[in-house]
Amino acid sequence: MHLCMCRHCHKVFRHRMIKSVCEECKALDDELFARIEQYLLEYPNSNAIQIADALKIQPLEVISFIDEGRLTMVEGTFERLED
Ligand SMILES: [Zn+2]
Repeated sequence: MHLCMCRHCHKVFRHRMIKSVCEECKALDDELFARIEQYLLEYPNSNAIQIADALKIQPLEVISFIDEGRLTMVEGTFERLED
């Protein structure tokens, strides 16, 4: 079991995989990711600060998606990962 911390509510919990979102915040997280993805479709060369600004979220929340591998960052811009 890994000790994990939720990036939204900062609750500490245990999970068999390394997770950055707790069960309660999973829906919120998916919605947030969908909004980031949508924004990047419109503005493909945005950086974390611009995305955070536009979506009224914390840059760290954007960056944590990169750490998770759901978004990749190349020379300060994001690319969508191939599924
Ligand atoms: Zn949470």
